[in-house]
Amino acid sequence: MHQIFLRSITLVWWVGYALVAGAAEPENIDTLITQAGQYLYSTPEKSVALLDRLKVLQPQFTLAQNASFLVIQASSLGFRGRHQERIAQLIPYLPLVKEPAMRARFLYELVDGNSALGQYEEALLAMNESILLLPSLQRVQQKLTVLQSAVSLLIYLRAYEDALSFAERIYALGADTMGSYALCVGLADRVEIHFLSGNGVAAQAQVPEAIRACDANKNDLVSLIIKSLAATAEIDSGQYAQGIARSLPLLNQFAGLSNDSDYLTQLEEAVARAYLKTGDMDRAERYGLRAYQRAVSGKALQLQEKTSETMARIKRAQDQLINAMAYYDTNLTLKHKVLDDQLHRNLAYQRVKFDTQDKANQMALLEQKNIMLNTETALQRGRYQNVVLLLTLGLVALVILGGWLVKTLRQSSFFRQSAQVDGLTQVSNRAHFTACSQLAFRDTEGTVSLVLFDMDLFKRINDTYGHPAGDWVLKSVCETVQSQLRRTEILGRLGGEEFALCLPDTGLEEARVLAERCRSAIATIDSAPSGFSFTLSASFGIACHTPFTPLNFEEALAAADKALYLSKADGRNRVSVYRPHGS
Ligand code: GH3
Ligand code: MG
Ligand code: MG
Repeated sequence: MHQIFLRSITLVWWVGYALVAGAAEPENIDTLITQAGQYLYSTPEKSVALLDRLKVLQPQFTLAQNASFLVIQASSLGFRGRHQERIAQLIPYLPLVKEPAMRARFLYELVDGNSALGQYEEALLAMNESILLLPSLQRVQQKLTVLQSAVSLLIYLRAYEDALSFAERIYALGADTMGSYALCVGLADRVEIHFLSGNGVAAQAQVPEAIRACDANKNDLVSLIIKSLAATAEIDSGQYAQGIARSLPLLNQFAGLSNDSDYLTQLEEAVARAYLKTGDMDRAERYGLRAYQRAVSGKALQLQEKTSETMARIKRAQDQLINAMAYYDTNLTLKHKVLDDQLHRNLAYQRVKFDTQDKANQMALLEQKNIMLNTETALQRGRYQNVVLLLTLGLVALVILGGWLVKTLRQSSFFRQSAQVDGLTQVSNRAHFTACSQLAFRDTEGTVSLVLFDMDLFKRINDTYGHPAGDWVLKSVCETVQSQLRRTEILGRLGGEEFALCLPDTGLEEARVLAERCRSAIATIDSAPSGFSFTLSASFGIACHTPFTPLNFEEALAAADKALYLSKADGRNRVSVYRPHGS
């Protein structure tokens, strides 16, 4: 939500470029397309009318005209909140769009549309593809749009580290030009990411430089955004009077620049909180209410959640308990929604993370290759006298390229490792767990125990609190159990809500004690962080291989499964042991 303004600024630039390109050909269709793009921002109704007129002419379009038309139409649909149609009409044409700048525009629409629909995985995949186009984009604005849209999405998904690395690229695009847009936005992103990731000291340290860069770019809005982030952080850190003094002039400036900014809402909320803390109830209520109303009309979930909580506190402090209750009720509902959405976003990012990092590396390699090629061409032309210098340059490029290669290779071993890990819970997946356990059972001369456990009535949790809550449970259970284990003991997810432990050099009794410990640890997991209140339990089954009762892994698994079945039949939330002689 934080990036809306930076984002719309780059979007305007982008369309500005399309106009210049389109205006070169004075064809009737081209003129109409150009106008439709022009009116997109100033008078959207006119733009819609033009697009409707153009639709009739679509059969006569050239490929290039069709691409421009579609992308403007997509933007227009996006403005009207019709993201589903926006995406649906771009997808069939995407394979036909080869020209990098146009393809990047298509992908931009897909990133924006999908993230508006909460389809974060699709948004990330489109973003990754657009990242790969960076080396072949000619204009700084085009690169900026791709990078800024990546930064916005990654910030939104709380992938701050990746967001920061793209912000650094934006910064690098403008690093040597004071007054450039890239320098201002790159630094503003950096500040915001540091604040969001809880790195307040680093953020504050960079605020003055960022403000200077944006002032040099005459970018009043971004400069104001940075100042308001800093003021909000000051209030968050408990410096209320100072924070208020700093914020009030900023609130006025917003009124002139951008009256419906999320940053404005955020600042007003912080000011309301500061007044509440200093006991000025009238002002607290005035600012709190404004922030709340702005959040409701802006539809940003997190801001609604935050402002409703502040209003509830204010009302409570004023002893207006009925009003306070109403705000608390609203707040609770919103908290659940925010949590759901957050889990959803985290998951999407986790699923696509490796792809994102891989694409970033591939792009860096392509860029380095370009540098090498340029150096080579220069050498061949023989324009430069100092061949030695160029050779050195080439060598440096090679070293850098080598560095990236090593990084990529390391990354790919990381990917291999990720094939062994279950994406949701980060414990061994079934295949990896089975392979390790088979070895443990085969190579031992002593005892090995296998513990199987399955969450009790887990379906009910999914059905009652939703799938994200279920996922949260699976992750928490794995963390809890993992914390009970020694380094040589392996936890694996066999599937769904069924897990197993392989315990080398562990006899039956020892295994039972450990299983009992895990069972009671699971039963005392606090469900509050999931946003709901419920209790958890799991049923356990144990089998043990000893020199007297030898079992291979598959036999042990079947035996532990029988014991687990006994636990379920006996009423669940207990540990049962498989005894080969029926003892
Ligand atoms: P029992 O005590 O007999 O084991 O009952 P149960 O409800 O735990 O067993 P059941 O096999 O009926 O239900 C298991 C549920 O686990 C059904 C399935 O939807 C859910 N599940 C499987 N994998 C996942 C997952 O990755 N995430 C979530 N949230 N649920 C999952
Ligand atoms: Mg179960
Ligand atoms: Mg099961």
